[in-house]
Amino acid sequence: MSIEPSRSQFDLAPAVSLVIPFYNEAETLAALHGAIRHELETAGFTYEIILVNDGSTDAGEAVCRALVAADPHVTLINFRKNFGKSAALSAGFRAAAGEIVITMDADLQDDPAELTRFVAAIEQGADVVCGWKKDRRDPWGKTAPSRLFNAVVNRTFGLKLRDHNCGFKAYRAQALANLNLYGELHRFVPALLHARGYRLCELPVQHHPRRFGKSKFGASRLVKGGLDLMTVAMTTRYATRPGHVFGAIGLLMLLAGGLCLSYLSLLWLIGAGPIGNRPLLFLGMLLMLFGGQFISTGLIAELVLSRSITEGDKYDIRDRVGAKSGGAVARPVSR
Ligand code: UDP
Ligand code: MG
Repeated sequence: MSIEPSRSQFDLAPAVSLVIPFYNEAETLAALHGAIRHELETAGFTYEIILVNDGSTDAGEAVCRALVAADPHVTLINFRKNFGKSAALSAGFRAAAGEIVITMDADLQDDPAELTRFVAAIEQGADVVCGWKKDRRDPWGKTAPSRLFNAVVNRTFGLKLRDHNCGFKAYRAQALANLNLYGELHRFVPALLHARGYRLCELPVQHHPRRFGKSKFGASRLVKGGLDLMTVAMTTRYATRPGHVFGAIGLLMLLAGGLCLSYLSLLWLIGAGPIGNRPLLFLGMLLMLFGGQFISTGLIAELVLSRSITEGDKYDIRDRVGAKSGGAVARPVSR
């Protein structure tokens, strides 16, 4: 994980980096900062707080500038416009230097008093700790779609988490090195990391009702989440072998089309009547055409991949032992 350029080379990396994306949450930022500071200082951790302003149009930036001036633990990253929560998390992750990175929402729905429990869960061996809003304090219109989303994602990826999209999560820094968040993929972080072999655990957390501002995600998130599910299922399973998925579908279509056309050819050969007006003829032709298309799409994907694939795309190393062990190794947390 790269250390941000402004940080002095002689500074020690903090044990914990907090990454907090926010979009129009001016009312809560100062209180959130105070509560985080109280919690982490009582626990005795070295820490940094990275606030990512995702194009807020309220007084959020001014509030954060005052926090930066008063507290050297705070860094503010201002986006030029609203790029979305995934982009904001991604920028925060790049800047984070801690051995443990914790994300939380800025609206005070997540409780900073839980921070030390997240650190403890990582110290006990988890790579990723996912908050679970056990007693969720959101309206029915948010909780019901969320249940459906969790069930579908669990089924698709073979997971058993009750709250994939909880903003409160902790990571061993290593887990973030190859996590590429963009679009609205923040909902799929557990699925993406599970697919790379990281150890996930779930931690029940307190959840408070939103007292200021309003939710930034509307009903459209179910549709977007559904579409992203296909993307993530494809990229986690077939990112390094797209030819397999396109090829398998294409071959099945070719086979089905071939069977249809062979049957009709047989009928024609034995003189069982004209076949030019049979719907089966069109079905067989379409299956053959699209089957060929699928296979060639897979081959093109493989050609593109062979030029662009990186080491990080192929595997994830947990640790190295022995003479060549200079790589990233999970270190115990220093306080
Ligand atoms: N957020 C963001 N960019 C956006 C939308 C949201 O940084 O485009 C932040 C938001 O300010 C909050 C967190 O993401 O800190 C979670 O958003 P919200 O509370 O609206 O989601 P909900 O709790 O309603 O699911
Ligand atoms: Mg919220």
